[in-house]
Amino acid sequence: MQPEWIDLYLFVSLLVILIYVLTVNTITTLHKVYLAFHSLMMLWPSCNFLINITHEQPIQWFFLNVAFVGLCFLGFGWLIFALVLTKKIDSYEKKVLSLWAIPAVLCAMLVTTNPWHFLFVQPSGEGWAIRTYGPFFWLFILSSIIYLIVATTFMLLTLTAVPESNMKKQLSLCVWGVILLLMFSLLDVLFNVVFFPRFGVVAGLTSFGIITSVICFVIAIQKYDLFRIVTIAQREVIDSMTTGMIVIDNNDLTLDLNRSANKFLKIRQGQVFDMKKLFTLSPKEGMFLEEYSSNKSKILQTEIVFGGEKTGHVSITVSPVFDRRKCLLGRIITFNDVTELSVMIQKINEKNMTLKQQNKELLRVQEELYKANKRLEQMTITDALTGCYNKRYLLRQLVREIAVARRFKFPFSIILFDLDNFKLINDTYGHLAGDNVLRGVVDVIKQNLREADMLARFGGEEFIIYMPQTDRDGAVVFAERIRSMVENHCIRTSGADLSVTISAGLISVNAEAEFVDDHQIFLENLLTMVDSALYEAKSRGRNCVVVADASVKDA
Ligand code: GH3
Ligand code: MG
Ligand code: MG
Repeated sequence: MQPEWIDLYLFVSLLVILIYVLTVNTITTLHKVYLAFHSLMMLWPSCNFLINITHEQPIQWFFLNVAFVGLCFLGFGWLIFALVLTKKIDSYEKKVLSLWAIPAVLCAMLVTTNPWHFLFVQPSGEGWAIRTYGPFFWLFILSSIIYLIVATTFMLLTLTAVPESNMKKQLSLCVWGVILLLMFSLLDVLFNVVFFPRFGVVAGLTSFGIITSVICFVIAIQKYDLFRIVTIAQREVIDSMTTGMIVIDNNDLTLDLNRSANKFLKIRQGQVFDMKKLFTLSPKEGMFLEEYSSNKSKILQTEIVFGGEKTGHVSITVSPVFDRRKCLLGRIITFNDVTELSVMIQKINEKNMTLKQQNKELLRVQEELYKANKRLEQMTITDALTGCYNKRYLLRQLVREIAVARRFKFPFSIILFDLDNFKLINDTYGHLAGDNVLRGVVDVIKQNLREADMLARFGGEEFIIYMPQTDRDGAVVFAERIRSMVENHCIRTSGADLSVTISAGLISVNAEAEFVDDHQIFLENLLTMVDSALYEAKSRGRNCVVVADASVKDA
């Protein structure tokens, strides 16, 4: 290898590395295509320069070869660039795109095989710097023109289809770029090929065309942010938000606003933003305004009824923006339509109120039910006529009481009393009078009972008094007392004022008594004995108390 070629290989290696780095790193397809396209464009002027500064024909041919191969692919490059610009690239499969490269590849082959046929270009006697072109050259020109026409058609079609936007401006600039390139290239062909050598060599026409078209792209890129994808994306995001957003400086001048902001207020960039105009002053909003104008470095939030195009609820947030030295630069004000939310909240509140009322009603019904239940419960354990406990309840309770008395070893007494000659009262004064007498006797006895004592109707006109913690002596005194009180009590009936007497049997179980294990049986024994005592009282002439004396266990 000749030493001067080493540098060329090194240059090519560096170029390959650059292309590799740009390809594998995250840049957009547009960046990549543009870089490749730009590199192709750079080849023509640089190679032409190199051809003209050397007299070595093989070197001249090498650069001419490279320059023309580059030009062969320039049209194809344009087409791809146009497809990317018009966002149509994705609708074509890679296979189809590579088919479109065939004319460029064929032209490149015609160029590189030139030394065998010289049908593309021929050197003059002075070398390749001055040359004449053969029929293959015209094929290349045709292919390039077709590429450029197709690319321009794509751009023009998109131009007419898209609404007024940055893209439209970019595209029209790029179309101008192609037209300029085409014009200068055709001039080059005219002067340096068709009319050659009438005007001598007119240098740099195609290169100038390339430069002018590149300038068009650069303007498109710089002025319309063609490559600043992130900025464009951010703008898109901000504009597509439903939240209205305006940015104001610390003099309340509107610096920027997004599309949704117009839904909430009519303001343009550069106009002064006046928060007061948004409010119909209620006390809450007044406070917000006060804070807004006094404390400018605090996030503020309020919800107002907003009378824009249609009335609604809007949540406004004011966030201050500071620089690095904590100086206030301005504020970002956002508007969120919360009408639906407010309506929902109102509906929920109304529902809540209804629920509360229903709940109250439910509680009232529950209370009534509870009382009714209590009454029912009372009714199942009391005797309807006299209001004292009934026999079923008495027997159930007595079994329990016996168990407790046995467990804690305390005495208790049971009195069974029966109204004397009650049948006679019924027969003489009637059943209703008899009922009154029954109630009257119960009332008298109830007045003498202690809290723990229990009075129950045992049947007909027989009653039982259970007295816990009461021994025999105490029970006798009590029995005598009620006997005498009943005797001396006058009961008023519709017919006459009556007085009755009672006979009572009494049995006491002392603290040390031995119990039968089965409390039910023990109770039955007690009742039998007390009944016998009552019977004894009746036999002794009535209106007296007889104490059952037998040992309970033996009974
Ligand atoms: P003794 O002194 O022997 O007990 O005589 P007596 O007349 O009271 O006889 P007995 O105990 O056999 O009679 C009870 C009467 O009580 C019979 C029945 O008609 C009456 N009686 C039972 N329950 C009621 C009631 O709820 N109301 C009324 N008015 N009378 C009743
Ligand atoms: Mg009786
Ligand atoms: Mg009786």
